[in-house]
Amino acid sequence: MAFHPSDAATLTAPELGVVPHAAWIEQLPASVVVLAGDVVRYANAAALRLLCAQQPSDVVGKSVQDFIHPLDLHRSLARLRHAEGGGINPVTEIRAYACNGAPLMVAMSSTTLQLEGQTAVLATFLDLTERAAMEQRLRQTDEDFQRMMNTMQDVFYRTDAQGITRYVCPAVKNVLGYTAEEIIGLPAAAFYPDLSERDALVAAIKKHGAVHDFPGRMRRKDGVIIDISISTRALRDEQGNYAGVEGIWRDISERKAMERQLQRLATCDSLTGIPNRRCILESLEQLLQRGALLSVLLLDLDFFKRINDRFGHAGGDRALMRFAEIIDGERRSRDFFGRLGGEEFLLVLEGADGAEALAIAERLRLATRAQPIALHDGEEVTLTLSIGVAQARPGEPGVSSLLLRADRALYRAKQQGRDRVCRDAA
Ligand code: GH3
Ligand code: MG
Ligand code: MG
Repeated sequence: MAFHPSDAATLTAPELGVVPHAAWIEQLPASVVVLAGDVVRYANAAALRLLCAQQPSDVVGKSVQDFIHPLDLHRSLARLRHAEGGGINPVTEIRAYACNGAPLMVAMSSTTLQLEGQTAVLATFLDLTERAAMEQRLRQTDEDFQRMMNTMQDVFYRTDAQGITRYVCPAVKNVLGYTAEEIIGLPAAAFYPDLSERDALVAAIKKHGAVHDFPGRMRRKDGVIIDISISTRALRDEQGNYAGVEGIWRDISERKAMERQLQRLATCDSLTGIPNRRCILESLEQLLQRGALLSVLLLDLDFFKRINDRFGHAGGDRALMRFAEIIDGERRSRDFFGRLGGEEFLLVLEGADGAEALAIAERLRLATRAQPIALHDGEEVTLTLSIGVAQARPGEPGVSSLLLRADRALYRAKQQGRDRVCRDAA
């Protein structure tokens, strides 16, 4: 026989003005069930709703085992038996199923009740499904976040408005050598070799709200400075005030080193390390376009074939390297010096007229013959060179006409016996 609340004794509470009626159980917003043994004898409207029952018989007369998750069944039944023993069970969370099989999370508490001379269990349930689902989602999100942070190669970080690091992911250890714990709580600026770079970053973020691939540098724990690229955005509090930054930076030292290497390969002569033909001619072209006062020296080593013949090609190479060093050391800091090819070099003298260029050329000629070059096998060779000097004319049409005049002057220097300087006909 199904139990009905009207059968139960009316509750009395004489000190209160209202005497509760057992029928109220039917209207309680909390779910209430009465169990005899494992069988449900009564379920109030809230309980039927919670269990998605179409009619009371979907629940009443059924075993509790039909509604409780197998993993929680043992625990729940032990609880219910404890209640049968006369105690009040504190709230416990159990996983359950509705009549339609939908999973539920409920908070259950129970106590005993005398029903038809038998001890029954009166249990109440609160639906925690929404909360549990939310917690599960949060946990999942948190786990996803942690997993991502743990596997990331780039460094995710967050600072507060004062620039103090509040979070940094573990990858920072691989990149900077510091653990996340060593960094959190310290100003982000502490890791910048140049504070103005950090200031520029913060200013850009404040101005644009975010930056992408912003260049910067950081100092590793071992002192090495690395190149980094930062993508980050400003954080705002509820009032819209600046609350710090959040973003990602990555170590791009390798890429930068490669770029520098490519740049070197593209612009430097591989033997001597000084600017190559293309690079020196570009510099000259730019100066000419600016209409700057300038002169050029075309340098050609004398009888260089003989050096090769006597000391071999390796000896010749060594002589070329040392010669480039001598001139590079003698030139003024604003001059451009490069190798045009073979044993021919070009020096671009910015701000020098023909007469001044002539004097510089003469100085270089003397410096070269004054410094014998030691070759590997202990032998020495003294180089001499011939130099053709040409001054750029106002409205000089381009590099070639200027170099042609310098070449003519060089030719005359060779003709007149080498180891000398000649100037183009003004
Ligand atoms: P001069 O200029 O005084 O008329 O005589 P030279 O012997 O220097 O004549 P030329 O300019 O015709 O020859 C230059 C020689 O330089 C030819 C080549 O064997 C040598 N040479 C050119 N490039 C290199 C190089 O990279 N390494 C070495 N070892 N020798 C080079
Ligand atoms: Mg030569
Ligand atoms: Mg030559």
